[in-house]
Formats: sequence, structure tokens, C-alpha cells
Amino acid sequence: MNHNFFDTKVEFLKGLGPIKATVLNKEINVFTYADLIQRYPFRHEDRTQFHQISDIVADMPYIQLKGKIKFIETVGEGSKERFIAYLRDSTGDIELVWFKGINYIKKFIQLNHEYIVFGKPSEFNGKINISHPEIELYNPQEAKEQGALFPVYNTTETMKKKMLDSKALAKAIKQLIPLALPHIRETLPEDVLQENQLISKKEAIANIHFPKNMDMLQKAKNRLKFEELFYTQIRLLQQNLYRKVTYQGFVFKSTVLLTEFYKNHLEFDLTNAQKRVIKEIYKDMTCGKQMNRLLQGDVGSGKTIVAFISMLMAIDNGFQVCLMAPTEILAEQHYQGLKKYADSLGIPIDILTGSTTSGGRKLIHDYLETGDLKILIGTHALLEEKVKFKNLGLAIIDEQHRFGVEQRSKLWHKNADVFPHVLVMTATPIPRTLAMTLYGDLDVSIIDELPPGRKPIKTVHRYDSHRLKVFGFIREEIEKGRQVYIVYPLIEESEKLNLKNLMDGFESIARAFPEYQTSIVHGQMKPKEKDYEMQRFSRNETQIMIATTVIEVGVNVPNASIMIIENAERFGLSQLHQLRGRVGRGSEQSFCILMTKYELSKDARERIKVMVETNDGFEIANTDLKLRGPGDLMGTQQSGILDLLIADLAKDGAILEQARNVAHKILTEDPNLQAYKNACIKHQLSSLSKNSTNWARIS
Ligand code: ADP
Ligand code: MG
Repeated sequence: MNHNFFDTKVEFLKGLGPIKATVLNKEINVFTYADLIQRYPFRHEDRTQFHQISDIVADMPYIQLKGKIKFIETVGEGSKERFIAYLRDSTGDIELVWFKGINYIKKFIQLNHEYIVFGKPSEFNGKINISHPEIELYNPQEAKEQGALFPVYNTTETMKKKMLDSKALAKAIKQLIPLALPHIRETLPEDVLQENQLISKKEAIANIHFPKNMDMLQKAKNRLKFEELFYTQIRLLQQNLYRKVTYQGFVFKSTVLLTEFYKNHLEFDLTNAQKRVIKEIYKDMTCGKQMNRLLQGDVGSGKTIVAFISMLMAIDNGFQVCLMAPTEILAEQHYQGLKKYADSLGIPIDILTGSTTSGGRKLIHDYLETGDLKILIGTHALLEEKVKFKNLGLAIIDEQHRFGVEQRSKLWHKNADVFPHVLVMTATPIPRTLAMTLYGDLDVSIIDELPPGRKPIKTVHRYDSHRLKVFGFIREEIEKGRQVYIVYPLIEESEKLNLKNLMDGFESIARAFPEYQTSIVHGQMKPKEKDYEMQRFSRNETQIMIATTVIEVGVNVPNASIMIIENAERFGLSQLHQLRGRVGRGSEQSFCILMTKYELSKDARERIKVMVETNDGFEIANTDLKLRGPGDLMGTQQSGILDLLIADLAKDGAILEQARNVAHKILTEDPNLQAYKNACIKHQLSSLSKNSTNWARIS
């Protein structure tokens, strides 16, 4: 095989050499030309555009200034010490402030020299300043040579010390680009480029680093994002297609139990969304191919019944089913919810978790192998070697963002020849862009309708100082016959603190409401004790339930109409939404009150705001994605696929949608990519799967 230009080690680039190459290897994982050229700048400086100091107001985005340092001083002492430099242009003065690295900056700054300053203005004590700006000497000659838009790259402290700052990187990349251009292959078919108005790969690579102008920079970004997302999507869709062609699935035609349940045991009418989703699942389970489906629905949308009806399809045909949840509490919740239905039909059901006794375990293993046990609910414990089904027909996975693809497939392999059907459920909605990326290989069903008669929950934000008023409101509602949840956050570091928090809350409530009964439930109670308290509350023997987040899942008390969340600022958005979902289950108007301290971080304020404004789980999930970023939102386990070089799932939803549609159309027309015009895709996919260099990932 020819040596690939892009596999060349960076040390061979003029001006870099072995020592700097080692720094690049160690600091930013840059080994080859491919790695270097894909080190995209995070912004560009426009060396011709400067703000005037007199125009600056607080909370402006990042701005660029040009001026001379007129005066410097060090004020404060010890940890309060700071260094201030006064920058002046023809319109005014502004303070530049440093709290750290003072010695270094002191040496660097010279009075009356002209500097370019880049930073974000903020207000402090009624005065506007810029803290820790980027600052460099202005060099008019250089500015002219570099052109207007100059790339700025992320670097590390070590790199800067070793003379590999952003400028040095820019210089190296500027060397590399003309050498690289002849070797860059187009990776998207001509018709895709034209129909989607994308520039060529060569133009994109050249312009992402050194754009001709703003417009070309935008086009370069767009093209590279499209390409990156296109290839993630085409691979996912190919897997989906491949599975459908390759894997046989059990055919579940008989519907005796299903009909019996539907006619005689179902207590309510299914919503249209539930019916639609059940039809989609039924179609999968009768078509002879293995089902791989994601079921999404907001809190309270009625996923449990859909899961149960799907189970019946398998059981009806002599098969077993299992449901795997990420935690014991969730497994227990599913077990409780499903047992009711299973018992009504006399179907054997059991639960297997880490805390199942060894005797109980043995019994379950035996009954599974004989095929007598039909429904098994559990945690990861279901994946153990010892757990052997006689004939597993359907595996339901309550994903809650926690199972990786590998674990999903491990579950399938419990059958030798034919894999069981797989239904993945999520407890809360996942933003569309994430769902398309993480579960892009699955078919998707969405329950987008709540059962009838639900009144939207009213959500308000109250400060701790309004506690008395809130208590008054609680009293009014209890007098009307309602019940109340009060939830305290889990403090991760300290079990003791959790309990103290909760007990303090309990005491103050007991004191404020002596005429009512109060339950308390927390993580350190034995399951039996918890259960007992939950039962009392659900029978309305207690009116107030004080709990930690253990009640986030697992309770369904329609008469409870108030959810008070203490220290709401400490909760994540999806958790707040889950908690809120505990009320609004009956016919009465329900309320959710978010209690916080007065001082809130910007993110916390945003979380509270979106909770107050909407009940829509999908909208909340989108905000969550914007605030936290995809990696954080989904947990590390699955973040590999979210490791994108340039696309951003929080912002590039439209491009993703477009890329997926294009990928879908191509695979529908040409599943094996045999058309001449698609040769470049095929080529690219094979170099992607070799995955020899980072470059191969997208080029
Ligand atoms: P989730 O999707 O959050 O798991 P559940 O399956 O727990 O929701 O359902 C929430 C509540 O709504 C349960 O009490 C369930 O019995 C009830 N429910 C589900 N579907 C319907 C329906 N079609 N009509 C009325 N109530 C329903
Ligand atoms: Mg549920």
C-alpha cells in the first residue's frame, strides 16, 4: 500500500522538528499531518476590526481592542492581590485585570506599546473591566500579511512555554496546507455537494484555517460539519439496514392473551399515541426480522402499559421476556407496575437484582431454564452468565442513558441462533439530535400524547424567604383533601448530611403542620420500611411525604397534587422534570414549587426558568443539552460516538437532520453503494473502518 501523505509524522514538517513534535504528541495528541490539519481553530481574529473603548458595555460578547497601556498597578495582598493595566485608545480607558500569573504578565507588559486585547467585558463594583484577556503586541506588518481573519487555536500551558502557542501552530498549519491540498480526496459525491450547496473538501480545509472572508469561513464550517455528521449517520443507518437484512426475528402471530387482556383487564382506553406505537411494535414482531426499536415518551405518557402489551405478544407465542433497568429502584418500580397486570392474567413474573438472596436466585435460575418463569425484571444482574432463558423472545431495556451498545448486544446473545427482539425505553425524552446519534441505528417510536384528563402542572419558583406563604398554600390544599411531596436533594459527599437535611425538614414540617400526618422516606431505610411508608402515603393515612430523590421513580399517588422541591438549584433539569412528573396524575390541578436560595448561578436560573415555562419534556431535554453539552448529558459510557471534531449536537440540529436525510436517501436508492457516483462514500467508509489515523475518521 502507498504511504499515505496524511500519516506522515509531524516532526517532518519544516519548522517543527522532533522536540516540538514530542510536545504536540504529549499535549494534544497530534502525531501526524492528519491530526495537525484537523486541529481546527476555535475562533478567528479579525485584525482589521476593533471596538472602541467608549462603546463598551457590560455583558458584551468577546470583543477585540487596540490601544496602548498607559498605567499599571498591583493592588491588594495575598489571595486578594491583582494586577491592573489601563488600556487607552482614542476614545477612552478600560481596566484589564489579572488575579493569577501576575508575575508573568507584569514582565510582559510595557508602557506605551500598542497591544491587541481580546476578552469579555464585565461589570465589577459599577465599573467595566476585562479580566484575564488575551493580549499581544500589535504588529502592523504581520497584520497585513496575515489577512483579516487569523485563526486562534487551543493550546496548553506547556505548549506555550515550549514556544508552541496558537501563533506557532498557525504557522505550522499554514506551511502544511499547500503541501496537503493535492492529497485531499473529495469524500462527498458531486450531486450531494451541489444539492446541499456544500463547498469542496479542499476549499473547506483551506478556509477553516485561513478563510478568505467571513462567508467562506461559514461555508467551510458548514461543509465539515455536514461531512462529519453524514458519516456518523450513514454508518448507523447501514447497521440498521444490515441487521434487517441479516437477522431473522421470531414471528409472534398468536394474540390470545393480548386480546383477553385488552378486552377484560385494561382499565382505560389507550391514547392514540400508545395505539400507534403498539402497532409499530406489532409490525416489527410479525415481520420475521429482529426488532431494534427505541421507545420514547415523556414522564407519565404511559410507557409501562406499552411495554406490557409488547411482552404479551412474546408470551402469547410461548416465549419469555425480560426487562432490564439501570438501578434497583427502577427495576423495583417496573416490577410493581407490571406485576399488577401480569397477576391479572396469571402470568409468572419475578425480579432479580443484586440484593436477591442466593436462595431466590437459584429458584429464578431454575424456573427460567424450564421456561416456567415468563417475565423477569432486573438490573445488570440479568447479564450474568448464570441467567439462562429457555427461550427469550423479547428484551426490553430501560435505558435511562446508561447502557452501552455492547451491553445491549450482550443481552441479545442469550439466544444462540435467533436474537430476541429488542425494545429500548427511555425514562425521559432525549433531544432529537442525541437520539439520532446515539440510537441512530434503531427505529424510533414516540409517545407524544399524555393520557386524557391531565391538567398541565403549574410550576412556580419561590425563594426560601417565602416559605411561610408556601406553607399557607400547602395547608389550603391539604384542607381540600390533597397530598404533598417535599423533596430534598441528595448531597453526594455525605450520607450524614443528607439525613440531617431531611430530618431538619421533617421536624420543621411536623411543627408547622401538627394536625397532619407526615411520612419520611430516604435511601438508608430498609426496603420494607420504605414500602410501609409509601403505602401509608398512598392510602392517604399521611398527607405529607418528605423524601430524598428516591421517590423520583416508583410512586404513583394520583391524589398527591403538590410537589415541593427544596434547593431546586441543586437538581439537574431531567431530574426536576422527573420529580414534577410525580404529580399531575389525578384529575385535580397540580402544582410544582421550586424552592431556592436567592443567589443563583446563571445555569441554575436558566434551569428554573425553563421548568416554570414549559411542561414539555422534549423542550426541557433540548435546554439540558444546551446547558450541559452532549457528553455530560449522556454520561461517559456513550460519549465516544459524541466525540465530534467540529459538529456540535446542541447547535447543529439542522445540519444533522439534513445529513441524515441525505444518508437515508442514498442508502435507500443504493443500499450497497455500488453506483459509480457513490464510490467515494464506499472508499471513505472503508478507510473509516480501518481507522488507522484520526484523519481517517472524517476524511
Ligand atoms: P411513564 O411513561 O412515565 O412510565 P406510566 O406508564 O407510569 O408512565 O403511566 C403513568 C400513569 O398513567 C399510570 O398511572 C398509568 O396507569 C396511567 N396511564 C397510562 N396510560 C393511560 C391511558 N391511556 N389512560 C389513562 N391512564 C393511563
Ligand atoms: Mg415509567
